[in-house]
Amino acid sequence: MPKTIIESTHFRSLINCLFKKLIIECFVNMNLLPKIKSCPCCNSLNLIKINGVSYENNFLSLKDWVLKKIFNCRKCRVKLGLFAEHANIKGEMIVWIDLLKCEEAYYKNLTNLQKSKEKLKKQNKKYEDVIKEINDIQNKIRLDQVKVKIKAKIQNPGIFVRHA
Ligand SMILES: [Zn+2]
Repeated sequence: MPKTIIESTHFRSLINCLFKKLIIECFVNMNLLPKIKSCPCCNSLNLIKINGVSYENNFLSLKDWVLKKIFNCRKCRVKLGLFAEHANIKGEMIVWIDLLKCEEAYYKNLTNLQKSKEKLKKQNKKYEDVIKEINDIQNKIRLDQVKVKIKAKIQNPGIFVRHA
């Protein structure tokens, strides 16, 4: 009799163990486990719960990525987006939405210029004009992004804003 009890308890705990393992694997596969990601603005860690629902991704410069979540950093409150690549080759990334918006503003213009650049490679003068325009836009983006970072720094005097 005691032997049977021991065996059945063993069996039950084995089943429990397998069941737990299965559930965890399920969550990992479905990407439902909370993720820990550091904020690109203040570097503090954020626990992100994914509910499996994707958000509408209207960002042209990241159109090949899936927007998994939009949230505010728990410390500096800047708006962040968790993006995952469709094929999952590049994995996931956390993006500071206001910095992305700086790039978005010039996305179409910049893409057209890049195309012209390819076409004009042999016609020297025009090619140089296009290169200059591309550089001007890229400088504008950088300047806009610096402004976003300065604004975040002013709103959160205690934080260390990353400059990478
Ligand atoms: Zn932050």
